Amino acid sequence: MRILLTNDDGIYAPGVNALLPMLRQFGRVSVVAPDRDCSAISQALTVTRPLRVHRLDDERIAVEGTPADCVHMASTGLLDIQPDMVVSGINSGANLGDDVVYSGTVAAAIEGRYLGMPAMAVSLAGQEKANLDYSEAVVIAEQLVKRLIAHPLPKGTVLNVNVPNVPKEQIAGFELTKLGQRHPPSQVLQEIDPRGRKGYWISPAGAAKNDEPGTDFHAIAHNFVSITPLQIDMTHYKLFPKMSPWMDELHA
Ligand code: MN
Repeated sequence: MRILLTNDDGIYAPGVNALLPMLRQFGRVSVVAPDRDCSAISQALTVTRPLRVHRLDDERIAVEGTPADCVHMASTGLLDIQPDMVVSGINSGANLGDDVVYSGTVAAAIEGRYLGMPAMAVSLAGQEKANLDYSEAVVIAEQLVKRLIAHPLPKGTVLNVNVPNVPKEQIAGFELTKLGQRHPPSQVLQEIDPRGRKGYWISPAGAAKNDEPGTDFHAIAHNFVSITPLQIDMTHYKLFPKMSPWMDELHA
């Protein structure tokens, strides 16, 4: 078993160090991850410049690229052996609802799916980055990797796993969830740099808008581990009846 571990927070992120020793029990692990924080970079591939890589040791390769670049390269020739599974994480912070569209963590898993591998994204849902405890998320990831090996899911499935950042005894259980929704973010934030130039910060993600029972937001709010199986068909099938008359009314 060859496992590819990546992380959009970068190769030096605590989530990498948390998962790496645990994953070694399953076989050979290769860490291929960006050399810096690439959070919210989605599934971008770098196609306008060459990608430099830095082999840190026998297991770890830092890439001057995105998380999707890492998974793409790792499964198309960078590694001597094709990986059998992609584990992305543990991300520092939740990836719930609309976050999956922006998340580099989820995108890395989706890139693995695209290249035919079982893939799982694991995120630690905590507000304050300084207070994240990865230990229970590692135990949960371990159980899920074992399960994915013993009971493979259909090709194309990506698991989006969010673990509440609470002590083990406060974890209420596991819940199979659908994606919720967030409110749109607030205004961009202005700042003036030390040289008097104006800059802008994209503001943090909006609060939960759809956090009804059954959503990932609801599960995390109630200290459940949220597991959302994702598929990548964004077609809005329910709109077909409404839109099909357009096809007769539109002119070439
Ligand atoms: Mn991240």
